[in-house]
Amino acid sequence: METSSRELQLLLDEKDRIEIGGRLHWFHWLIVLSSLLLTIGAWYFAKTQVNLKAERHYNREVDRVLDLISERMQKYEDVLWGGVASMRAHNHGMNYDEWKRYSETLRIEEKYPGINGLGVIYQVPSDKKADFLAQQRLRRPLFKIHPPHDEKELLPITYIEPVKNNAATVGLDMSHEENRYSAAKKARDTGDSQITGPIVLVQDAQKTPGFLFYAPFYKEDANIHTVRQKDDFVGLVYAPFIFHRLMEGALKHEGRHVGIKIIDDGTVLFDENHTGIDGFDPDPMYQTITTVEMYGRHWNFEILSKLSFKAAHATYKPWVILLAGIIIDSLLLGLFVFLARSNRRAVDFSSRMAEGYQSRVEHLSNVINEAIDGLITIDMHGVVRSFNPACEKMFGYTADEIIGQNVKVLMPDDYLEEQNKSDGQEAGVHSSDVVGRTKDGRIFPLEFSLSEIHSEKENLYSAIMRDITDRKNYERKIEDKQKFQNLIFSTLPDILFVKDEEFRIVEANDAFLALYPEDMRDSVIGMSSIENYSKEDAEEFVAQDRIAFDKGYSEIEETITFPTGETRTYFTKKVRFENNDGAAFILGVGRDITKMKKTEEELVNSNEELERFAYVASHDLQEPLRMVTNFTSLLSKRYAEQLDDTAQEYLGFAYDGAVRMQTLVADLLEYARLGGEAERYSVVDVNEIMPIVLGNLAEAITVSKAKVTYDDLPILYTNPVGFISVMQNLIGNGLKYQEPETVPEIHVAVRKEDNEWVFSIADNGIGMKQESAEKIFEPFKRLHGKGTYSGTGMGLAICRKIIESFGGRVWMESELGKGSVFHFSMPIHEES
Ligand code: ADP
Repeated sequence: METSSRELQLLLDEKDRIEIGGRLHWFHWLIVLSSLLLTIGAWYFAKTQVNLKAERHYNREVDRVLDLISERMQKYEDVLWGGVASMRAHNHGMNYDEWKRYSETLRIEEKYPGINGLGVIYQVPSDKKADFLAQQRLRRPLFKIHPPHDEKELLPITYIEPVKNNAATVGLDMSHEENRYSAAKKARDTGDSQITGPIVLVQDAQKTPGFLFYAPFYKEDANIHTVRQKDDFVGLVYAPFIFHRLMEGALKHEGRHVGIKIIDDGTVLFDENHTGIDGFDPDPMYQTITTVEMYGRHWNFEILSKLSFKAAHATYKPWVILLAGIIIDSLLLGLFVFLARSNRRAVDFSSRMAEGYQSRVEHLSNVINEAIDGLITIDMHGVVRSFNPACEKMFGYTADEIIGQNVKVLMPDDYLEEQNKSDGQEAGVHSSDVVGRTKDGRIFPLEFSLSEIHSEKENLYSAIMRDITDRKNYERKIEDKQKFQNLIFSTLPDILFVKDEEFRIVEANDAFLALYPEDMRDSVIGMSSIENYSKEDAEEFVAQDRIAFDKGYSEIEETITFPTGETRTYFTKKVRFENNDGAAFILGVGRDITKMKKTEEELVNSNEELERFAYVASHDLQEPLRMVTNFTSLLSKRYAEQLDDTAQEYLGFAYDGAVRMQTLVADLLEYARLGGEAERYSVVDVNEIMPIVLGNLAEAITVSKAKVTYDDLPILYTNPVGFISVMQNLIGNGLKYQEPETVPEIHVAVRKEDNEWVFSIADNGIGMKQESAEKIFEPFKRLHGKGTYSGTGMGLAICRKIIESFGGRVWMESELGKGSVFHFSMPIHEES
């Protein structure tokens, strides 16, 4: 038990420890929060990186676009300057054909896509217009300058190659219009290449924006880098540009992720940034507006990232990082919650376990404490570890006294010696042959079973013990009883036997065995009782056995010829009984009544003889008595005068005596005659014979004024003469045995009891003491002197004899002075 409590305590401590672990703590939250921060940090970092990369990319794109345009413009400028140089090489006198050749060698369309043509504009003062025209018309008769204007100088496009795309521009005067003119002037004045503001080229059927690119050339000796004199100015090499063609040439669309819009002084030169353009992003990731100084003009660039840029940088990485992080954090939190929860469940489980264990321990300790049997635990060395209250009661030691002691204290010394001789008790042994010693030295028998308890720490033995003093005493008593019963069984003169349902003898006493010859006796048990008997006897046995098995009881008087050859009469009773297993048997008890029967027979014979004698005697006495009465009467009458009074008195006595003797002899004769002749039985309605009885008693009834009443009486099958005699005698006695003044009241009643009618004749007469009740039925027995009530004392004897001959009984109940009740029974015959 102590071990269990210790284990329980450990279990509870463990439970507390787990319980603390079964909650979410600050460090759990710290881990989750840190992880969340880390996730956000990673997300932010990744996002920044991505943005940075995109921005760099965008910037690169912007730079590339601007560089490309600038480069392209520079290339075109180079072409112009090439024209200028060529002009100078020809001393500004390059005629149309020369120019044509020159420009053809440049393979403009092929090499400089975007340039619509390459031409020369000469400055022609107004006054020299005619000369100029004349000069030009030498080669091209249709050459004219247009449109007309008021400026004092003309700047007509003189040559333009290839001419086929630019025919409309030949002769067009740059000074007719401000935009073209001012740019030309600016080129002239600065000596630098210059572009015009946006214009619609006359050669562009689509009327899209374009511009002109000028490079000035001067007189031969002029230093073109320093000259600022318009006087030295000769003309311009120029190229017209249709803007979108220029851009097409300059920029390749493939691989470009930005759209461009170029505005020059409010006029849109080029625009990719609007819906309808492939890849336009209405919500661009980046946009830049920048102004680039371009050969005297300020081009405003609006550069927007395109959809393809977005697509190229559409990375979900930061979001994936964020999402993954959040998922991991949630999982972490979930894991903590799950762990905490499963810890809690473990705690709950352990609580339940602990409770269950506790209640089992309690239950177990209750069982041990309340056990009726003693429970003791000892270790390998025989040291007592536990000792329950039943043990305390049994041995008289308290648990405290005995725990820690060697178990030998509880055993008597001599027993210990014996045990030492043998190997002692083994586990798993159940023994009732053990003794114990109480604290006060009493030795008592005990029953015990020993079992071994295996545990990790050590092996213990536990024993269940029971004080079996009472049982031993009881067993001894039973043994004594058994001995006694065996003694009776073997010495009883009556035969005793037990038979089973197959009528085999399973038990028999010595008296029974003695009925068999000696050599057979050993085999009687197991024999069926019919083997060694005559067929008739055997059938009778079995018939009686069957009755006993069926009805529980049978009895018979039987004369049997036994296997010894002896014939004897037995009165045998058989009683059925069942053993504890429910098997049925009969116990037979037989008494040898051979001798008794013989005596009875002799007695009957002698009785009969006596009755014959009584009959003969009383019959023979009648005659001499009659003579005595006759002759005393004759003597008294004839010799009346001779005899004195005394003699007459004496004769009277003699006469009375003789008469009384006559009555006695008559009664005796009647008594002796009863049963002598065969009774004549008939069906008798007692109601009908009652009037005969009362008629016979009429005198007594009349004299005494008696009241005789009777119930409705039954019909009997009997001898009517005998029955009348009985009734007459009993009612007659009721009338006779009365106080003189009493009016006799007699009632005849009847009741049915089992198989007989019981008649009762009750009177209100003198009654008698109950102890006389038996005697009065004996012959000649009287309770009164002949002076008080007349009679011979034979009436009731005769009644009894008659009733018994009918198979009934007679008895009476009375109390002195309180009347008498005479009862007699009559068997109910089927005939009645
Ligand atoms: P008896 O011829 O004397 O009447 P019984 O055999 O009839 O002889 O009776 C025997 C005795 O029993 C009687 O002498 C009487 O004392 C007593 N006895 C019988 N009947 C009654 C009765 N009804 N009341 C009181 N005593 C009775």
